[in-house]
Amino acid sequence: MNYFFLKIISITVFFQMLVISCTDVNNNNQKEIEEFPLILISIDGFRWDYFEKTSTPNLDKIIQRGVKADGLETVYPSKTFPNHVTIVTGRYPDNHGIIGNYFYDQDFQEYFYIGLNSEPAKDGKWLQSEPIWVTAEKNLKKAMIMFWPMSESEYMGIRPTEYYAYSNDYSYEQRVQQILNWLDYEEEQKPSFLATYFNRVDGAGHSFGPESQEVIDAIKDVDSAIGMLIDGLESRNIFDKVNLMIVSDHGMIETPQEKAIDVSSYVDLSNVITVSRGEYLMLRPSEDRVNSLYDELKQVPNTRVFTKQEMYDEFQWGLNDRIEPLILVPDEQWTVWTDSRTPYAGTHGYDPGLRSMDGIFIASGPNFKEGYSGSRVSNIHLYALMCKLLDIEPAQNDGYLYRISEFLNRD
Ligand code: AMP
Ligand code: ZN
Ligand code: ZN
Repeated sequence: MNYFFLKIISITVFFQMLVISCTDVNNNNQKEIEEFPLILISIDGFRWDYFEKTSTPNLDKIIQRGVKADGLETVYPSKTFPNHVTIVTGRYPDNHGIIGNYFYDQDFQEYFYIGLNSEPAKDGKWLQSEPIWVTAEKNLKKAMIMFWPMSESEYMGIRPTEYYAYSNDYSYEQRVQQILNWLDYEEEQKPSFLATYFNRVDGAGHSFGPESQEVIDAIKDVDSAIGMLIDGLESRNIFDKVNLMIVSDHGMIETPQEKAIDVSSYVDLSNVITVSRGEYLMLRPSEDRVNSLYDELKQVPNTRVFTKQEMYDEFQWGLNDRIEPLILVPDEQWTVWTDSRTPYAGTHGYDPGLRSMDGIFIASGPNFKEGYSGSRVSNIHLYALMCKLLDIEPAQNDGYLYRISEFLNRD
């Protein structure tokens, strides 16, 4: 009898403990995996120091409530597609394959190009590394994107749950509204990763130069769009329940006419295929002319000539097959052409070590520190950071979480 009661009591105690320990595990798990949507916004061509040009009350609000890096270092070349794709893959362009805005692939026998009518930008065959939206979707988290370079393409059979074809027909307000609409989805449909893109600060920098009134107007414009987003988040009571990251892909520098170089006036380019121009010129001579052309190109003032290996040693960019045998890189502000050209008023694409090429990284949300100003950081680490915020295992990448974790409020 006694034994029987003892047995009942011990079994009851055992089950009670099991229940308690299970609830404990659940609570801990809940704390561990409490997940907040991550919104990634790119302001194309927003140079690191543009905050000083005019008042930006809405961007300032994010900085006050969150973090700001002293600059976001680009990867070479500091152009839009290579850097946007680095941000979402954590890989150098040599490894993710989008080595420029314009290049040739010998296997496909096709050129990659960008812009409103770009077919390659919709085709995942050009991508050689996994973007964050694929990592998220593989982990059964939904990604919803209204414009991001290569987000319209399929990679390993996977696409964002929702995405838009790149277009200028949508106002900034519509882009912000779409992000808010996605956040309003019912529980089962809710996105974990959202992204959008604002283009006009870059456009104004190219057309009128970084010191122009037009750039100031474009900054004000984008700041108002961020204001709309903040209002939308506040009215839903979720401003402190989303992680919001605002980045830019590169900076901008004036490129005056006097610094435009017609390379053909120094070197005979008649039998040389040239790919891309302006901030660098890739050259494909016949194999027996590589060495002599290399020597001839050394005569072009205000430039440096590189082989692929030399380029890789300097910029970690060069070994990908899509990069041509010789590369001519002008000094800051200088541009290289194959005829006489009037360059844009401003441009980017130069050495990432130049401060003028730095973009921005600001962020706020439950996982970021509050009122924290941090050091200059490279955009190669953003993928690792975003995987941490989404609590997903990163795919192979070239970044390190520890190099950017100073911005997080816990490890
Ligand atoms: P960049 O001159 O390197 O700053 O490139 C900026 C240009 O990239 C923009 O003016 C657009 O034409 C183009 N662009 C940006 N996003 C996309 C996209 N998702 N698809 C195609 N082209 C794009
Ligand atoms: Zn850009
Ligand atoms: Zn640009």
